[in-house]
Amino acid sequence: MIFPNVAAMRAREWKDKSSYTYGLHGTPTTYQLEERLATLEGGLQCLLVPSGLAAIANVALALLRTGDEVLIPDNAYGPNKSLAEVELRHYGIRHVVYDPLDPADLEAKITSATKLVWLEAAGSVTLEFPDLIEQVRICRRHGVTTALDNTWGAGLAFAPFDLLGDGQLGVDISVHALTKYPSGGGDVLMGSITTRDQPLHLRIKLTHMRLGLGVGGNDVEAVLRSLPSVALRYHAHDAATRSLARWMKGQPGIAQVLHPALEDSPGHAHWKQLCGKSNGGTGAAAGLFSVVIDPRHGQQQIDAFCDGLRLFKIGYSWGGPMSLVVPYDLPSMRSGPSHHLKPGTVVRFSIGLEAVDDLRYDLAQSMARAFAVA
Ligand SMILES: *Cc1c(COP(=O)(O)O)cnc(C)c1O
Repeated sequence: MIFPNVAAMRAREWKDKSSYTYGLHGTPTTYQLEERLATLEGGLQCLLVPSGLAAIANVALALLRTGDEVLIPDNAYGPNKSLAEVELRHYGIRHVVYDPLDPADLEAKITSATKLVWLEAAGSVTLEFPDLIEQVRICRRHGVTTALDNTWGAGLAFAPFDLLGDGQLGVDISVHALTKYPSGGGDVLMGSITTRDQPLHLRIKLTHMRLGLGVGGNDVEAVLRSLPSVALRYHAHDAATRSLARWMKGQPGIAQVLHPALEDSPGHAHWKQLCGKSNGGTGAAAGLFSVVIDPRHGQQQIDAFCDGLRLFKIGYSWGGPMSLVVPYDLPSMRSGPSHHLKPGTVVRFSIGLEAVDDLRYDLAQSMARAFAVA
């Protein structure tokens, strides 16, 4: 930003969107995307950051001080837990892991030191859907700030700031990895932090400014170009995913299929309550599902199954046009027991925009080869 004279430079205010002073703190291009995302999620303020993980870190560093505690669900996005386990610990901030399927466990772990509770619906990798309404009620009752990792819902599956549809109950903060659906191309990294409270927003924004977490204008431009098609893409990914998840349930060697829209998937009733009415009553869900592969198939067979897929590529992330697969070592990722999961190895699929018949054929051919020798 070049100012016409010194008086104009002194008069500039960067904390709201009336003008701008320095690209790192926001430009008209970033303001545009921030406003559209706030509208999408039902928030009033939004801040862009260089990644979804930067959004998580920005919130934590803005709200937590030495001696504070942060509560994190056991099935949270892994790097959120790592941030707390290592970086936050160095600052004397304690993290406590709670059971996402047991609101009583969350309530029992809130203490006078608890300053932030992370929520995630559905959970990462295992896709359990929590009783988000009850979790937010509990945090409200104890006066604790809630931050939802809303990457899965994308502002489309449910309204994070209006969980009951009457404007009475919502999270305080919604963070979103724009890297996934809003970008849609699998080629841009970005995150957002949306709120409905100006003082809370300002607190996060000042930390954002001090840490230098601004985003590049060309990346913002790419997300602005993709955003108008996000709902169409989300629901297309959803339909294909549900069709494949249901089909996988009947396949030999598959002990369990995890997708919140499946009746027997953990937390299905909570998914139905929160997301069941969207998209004309079919409900809405992201394009992810996981399977638990029967323990009679060893690691070598599971690796061979993933390697044998031709359309599915091996890779993390999701929300792009290309289908992806990742096998996980779940016991190394969870603190507590997972009684709701069958024994076996978890493999996660992210469904892209390829023809669903081709994807089904690909899964069938690779399973037939890899699992033939049981
Ligand atoms: C991918 C992801 C993130 C992090 O996003 P990046 O832009 O890759 O840092 C955060 N939360 C969830 C649930 C994610 O899937």
